[in-house]
Amino acid sequence: MMGRWDRAIPLPPKTYTCHHESCHQVVEATEGWPFLKDEQYEIWFIYICPQCLRPTFFDHFERQIPEATSHKTLA
Ligand SMILES: [Zn+2]
Repeated sequence: MMGRWDRAIPLPPKTYTCHHESCHQVVEATEGWPFLKDEQYEIWFIYICPQCLRPTFFDHFERQIPEATSHKTLA
């Protein structure tokens, strides 16, 4: 797919498995959006997958959404 997300900014590089249906790659993402609190970087981030361009959310427990689903773990 061609194109880009509007107003995405550089983020600390993050390696993760992209769990979107069409992807399932281990990727290193470098762009997205941080959640800002008091104008400082907080520890919630949305990263954009460089392979499929779909966003993944990470919270302060490193919980990832979308996460691996059971049928994919078994596949
Ligand atoms: Zn992806």
